[in-house]
This record gives sequence, C-alpha cells and structure tokens, in this order.
Amino acid sequence: MTKPREVSAPTLFYDRDADLARLRGRRVAVIGFGSQGHAHAQNLADSGVEVVVGLRPGSPRWDLARSAGLEVATTADATRSASIIMVLVPDPDQRALYEREIEPHLRPGQTLMFAHGFSIRFGEIQIPEGVDVSLVAPKCPGHRLRELFVSDEGVPALVAVEADASGRALDDALAYAKAIGCTRAGVLLTTFAEEAETDLFGEQAVLCGGVTALVQAGFDTLVEAGYQPEVAYFECLHELKLIVDLMYRGGLGLMRYSVSDTAEYGDYVAGPRIVDERTRETMRAILAEVQSGQFSREWLAEHRSGRARLLAERRRQGDHQIEAVGARLRQMMRFLAANPTAQSAGAVA
Ligand code: NAP
Ligand code: MG
Repeated sequence: MTKPREVSAPTLFYDRDADLARLRGRRVAVIGFGSQGHAHAQNLADSGVEVVVGLRPGSPRWDLARSAGLEVATTADATRSASIIMVLVPDPDQRALYEREIEPHLRPGQTLMFAHGFSIRFGEIQIPEGVDVSLVAPKCPGHRLRELFVSDEGVPALVAVEADASGRALDDALAYAKAIGCTRAGVLLTTFAEEAETDLFGEQAVLCGGVTALVQAGFDTLVEAGYQPEVAYFECLHELKLIVDLMYRGGLGLMRYSVSDTAEYGDYVAGPRIVDERTRETMRAILAEVQSGQFSREWLAEHRSGRARLLAERRRQGDHQIEAVGARLRQMMRFLAANPTAQSAGAVA
C-alpha cells in the first residue's frame, strides 16, 4: 500500500519551466488515435513537433488521422522510427499491444510515455533497461484537451517520472506537456503510484460512480414520491451542470454565494446526512481496494473474459427511467445538439 506523501509545497510547472526545443529533431509516436490520442497528436503537430500516429492495420481511424494531416504507421513501425513513444490505447489493452508491437522494437535512449499510471503501477508493463519512462496525464477528457488547445487555453496535467535513464526525463516530459498545452494551466509533479491510485479512486467515489449514483437516487426518490419525472430530471441532473460550473470557476464558495441562502442552509444541514461516516468508511474501503491492486485485478480479469458484467450493467443503466426522460427533454434543447465528441476527429464508435 502506498503511504500518503509528507505534506510539502507542491511542485507546479508552467510554460516558462518547459523548453519545446527538447523535442526538436525528435520524432514522437502517438500510439492510438482515440479520445487522448487524437488530441495529443494534433496538439503536438501544431506545436511544431514531428509526429507519427501508430495504429493497427484496418483501424477506422487510419484515414481520420491522415485527413488531419498526420503521418500514420503500424505501432511497430512507429515505435522503431520514433524517439518518444506515447501509449494512448485503453489501459487493459496496453500490455498485449506493448508485448507484441512495442517492446521488441524498443532500444536504450528511447522514452516511453503514458497518460495514466495504470499499466506501470499495477505491474502490467515492466520497464526495460536504458529507457526513460514518464507520464503526462491531462486532467480531462481528450476532446476538451484539443478544444482548449485550439482556443489558446489549456488543461492542467500531472507529470511523473518512473525511470530516468537519460537524466533528462522530467525536462522531456515537461516539453511534451507544453507541446500539448498543459503548462498553460499548470503541471503538477507526482508519481505513477499517486496518479494511478487517485485517478481510480476519484472516478469511482466521486466523478463517475459517486455522482451518477447520487443523481439516480435523488431522481428515484422524487419519482417514487409521485412527482413528475421531468421535474425530477431538471432538478437532479440538468441543474447539476450549472452548479458544477460555479464550483469549477470559484470553488464551493462561489457556488454557495450564488445560490439562495435557503439553498446554502439546506446544503449545510443535509449534506453531512447524505455523505455520513458510513459513506466515508466506504470511500476508505474503495481506496484500499485500489491501493492493494484488488480493483485492477478484478477489472483486468473482467476485460479479458469478455466484459460480460460491464456490458450487462451498461444495458441495465441505459434502461433507467432517467435516461428516457432526459433523452426526450434534451431533444427540445437545441443548444445541446452540438455533441463535441461526435464532431471531433477522434470520435469513431
Ligand atoms: P481510447 O479512446 O479508447 O483509445 C482508442 C484508440 O486505441 C484507438 O485508436 C484504438 O484503435 C486503439 N485501441 C483500442 N484497443 C486496442 C488494442 N487492443 N490494440 C491496439 N489498439 C487498440 O483510449 P483513451 O480514452 O484515449 O485512453 C488512452 C489513455 O489515456 C489511457 O491510458 C487512459 O487512461 C488515458 N487517459 C484517458 C482520458 C480520457 O478522458 N479518455 C483522460 C486521461 C487519461 P482502433 O483505431 O483500431 O480502434
Ligand atoms: Mg481521470
């Protein structure tokens, strides 16, 4: 189990701390052209970096990457030809692809990079001698990484070095972070373990699992009590975005300042009853399962045995009443029609 770090001043890097010249004359292979891959590859290219996208033959994204003006090759060829290899395929698929197409072609002096610490932290990929291993993990979905880069904004990221054969792995990772726009917002130094563990915990307890369960339970409570599902949808799902936007801009304080005093008082008295000591105890248990590797073992076994539980749960959740009610209501909200995921270069079902 990883011990929490001593509390000390965080190390943050910005544009002035990173030197794009470190990437000059060095080819970067971006493996995968999905959510993260399409954003990294295009942002790097726009920053003047020589990029090759590595894909499997027959990938529907081969033409997509070419039409974005990028060179495309097989993962093996891209790995052979590049100095830096950024692995951007789904985490549970990385080991097989790495063993088949990347590892046999790696040589000392090259750099292997990741956008999530999963494969290294949970022992899926073993580090070869003489190769730098680093991490630049943007704290957002890939499509936002591209959109915000184009509009001269940036997304914060985490940076970490697992192996520093060259002695310059951090400088190179920071140059990479600058090239994809992250040093505009701030890049925080961490470790592979801290990034991987906090990322899994966050998506389970708060961002994905916690929030969806809270929204559904609130919706169910109102509908069971006889209120209109449409009213419950607006209240428990639609409005969440407006509340989170305020939190994003100014923390919990700006949100509490902007809502009525009635809402603020209700927040203080009801919040601790919803997330009580039992919920916090469950959060600690979830974190312990992440830290011990129990969760990653379970997920990798699920993935490798055909993902039956994932697919069944996806169907079951898709059938929840909130989804049908929401789909009808959203049809009338024309401003929601523009779906960034469907329009962006990386989106192929
Ligand atoms: P993704 O969109 O699912 O990646 C799709 C790409 O991976 C496609 O090009 C696809 O190939 C390729 N691919 C899928 N399975 C493959 C396999 N078995 N063999 C070879 N190629 C395969 O992945 P992602 O969400 O961008 O995630 C990539 C990395 O970024 C992960 O480490 C993830 O944790 C990290 N990350 C993701 C996000 C996010 O918001 N998505 C945020 C931060 C970090 P085809 O074109 O042939 O289908
Ligand atoms: Mg995350």
